[in-house]
Amino acid sequence: MSMIEPLREVLTGRVVTPDNSDWESVRTAWNLAVDQQPLAVVLAADASDVEHTVAFAAAHDLKVAAQAGGHGATKALDGTILVRTSELDDIWIDSHAGIARVGAGVRWGALQSALDGTGLTGLPGSCGGISVVGYCTGGGLSWFSRPYGSGAGSLRAVELVDASGSRRWIDDSTDPELMWAIRGGGGNFGVITSVEVELFAAPEITGGRLMFPIDQAEAVLTAYGAATATAADHVTLWAYVTHFPDVPFVPEPVRGKSFCMVDAIAPYEPAALEAALAPIRAAGTPVGDTVRRHEPGSLGEIAPAPGDPASLLIGSTTFDELSPEVLGMLLKHLGQPSPIFQVQIRHLRASDDIGHTGVAAADPVAQYCALLWAPVPLPEYEEPAREALLALKDAMAPWHAGELPPSSLGAGDSLQDSISEPDLVRLREIKQNVDPLGVLVGGYPVI
Ligand SMILES: Cc1cc2nc3c(=O)[nH]c(=O)nc-3n(C[C@H](O)[C@H](O)[C@H](O)COP(=O)(O)OP(=O)(O)OC[C@H]3O[C@@H](n4cnc5c(N)ncnc54)[C@H](O)[C@@H]3O)c2cc1C
Repeated sequence: MSMIEPLREVLTGRVVTPDNSDWESVRTAWNLAVDQQPLAVVLAADASDVEHTVAFAAAHDLKVAAQAGGHGATKALDGTILVRTSELDDIWIDSHAGIARVGAGVRWGALQSALDGTGLTGLPGSCGGISVVGYCTGGGLSWFSRPYGSGAGSLRAVELVDASGSRRWIDDSTDPELMWAIRGGGGNFGVITSVEVELFAAPEITGGRLMFPIDQAEAVLTAYGAATATAADHVTLWAYVTHFPDVPFVPEPVRGKSFCMVDAIAPYEPAALEAALAPIRAAGTPVGDTVRRHEPGSLGEIAPAPGDPASLLIGSTTFDELSPEVLGMLLKHLGQPSPIFQVQIRHLRASDDIGHTGVAAADPVAQYCALLWAPVPLPEYEEPAREALLALKDAMAPWHAGELPPSSLGAGDSLQDSISEPDLVRLREIKQNVDPLGVLVGGYPVI
């Protein structure tokens, strides 16, 4: 009998182990590049399944980790009892108070759709398939981070199961240190079953994507850099150089082709968005333009991401100015052939006044970040992809302008690549207080 067997007896949800026929599909994370090998997977049916699981692990000298979809999968979760939270999918909205309470399995797409017609938005990232909890506890760089700060800053209260298996709600008035730690260190400090997030004014969301032929990249990105320098604080502009792979799941019109693209969004005052976009449109000949009014629930259409699991290596870098040198360096590394399928440049937070002080994953200080994506559909693609990401990061090192929150880290990175040494020391002290035996494992461990 496996040591996990007694856990099956007390749970409403399933415990899946290597001897179950669906083990392969259940153990797998969204990011297939990480060959995740947990000890067992608990498909939690409710919050008490999470309590039982953590209590069982604590009593048997085992470790527990939590995962929603696994967009942020890492090897740190190997050997743990992995709690999958997808069934914890309740959504409750108080639009009057500007608060949403969601279960740990709720994805941004579902929460945003539930906000249609309210004039409010959460702080989602680009992909509707990402969970509110996984993202906010890792920092969370949003479409709306410029005016409203990071996803972590929007966390108001958390229901968590602590290292002994007890569940309680906490907030800044009851546990300020723990709340600080969770806003960046998530899974290291508790298994979260629900969160309350703040909602923000979005009475007239306008956004979309401009697409240009790749040979116009230099002119368009130069205009993009100038537009970001003068854009209103509530206007967000992201730019891309993308080489769409020649594979069946990519829609025919773009399959196998390369583009320079600009995504734009504003939660109110669309005229300011149009003013920022006019010189970018004029810098080239757009072959696609999807800018239109949106409800919160349709934001995922702006920058479509694959819903099905994919195999990706992710890298990032930061800089303060999109100078001709920086632009030249990015374009040099992204000329084809390159294993890097896309670089996404994000214009970051509008001002130091935005954000939240009780956040371990501090809002970035840099003006821009570049997020780098390299697909690895076959194992032999992995090494060239890793080398290409490292080469681009190294080439950009002279302009490096500070770290990004953990939600931007790749699978091979560590918290040191995101959080400053003094803050790491503080995180380790909190960890020692709340989980001295190390029962709880986050995607990026603190110790
Ligand atoms: C296509 C794509 C788009 C992305 N876009 C963005 C973006 O716009 N902005 C951004 O900031 N990031 C983005 N990311 C990065 C990042 O992967 C996610 O923000 C984050 O990992 C959440 O994804 P997930 O919900 O699948 O989390 P998972 O991979 O399921 O979890 C990630 C980590 O969160 C913690 N966690 C999850 N659930 C719990 C829980 N119940 N209790 C305690 N801890 C928990 C754990 O430490 C876990 O290891 C993107 C990633 C991809 C692949």
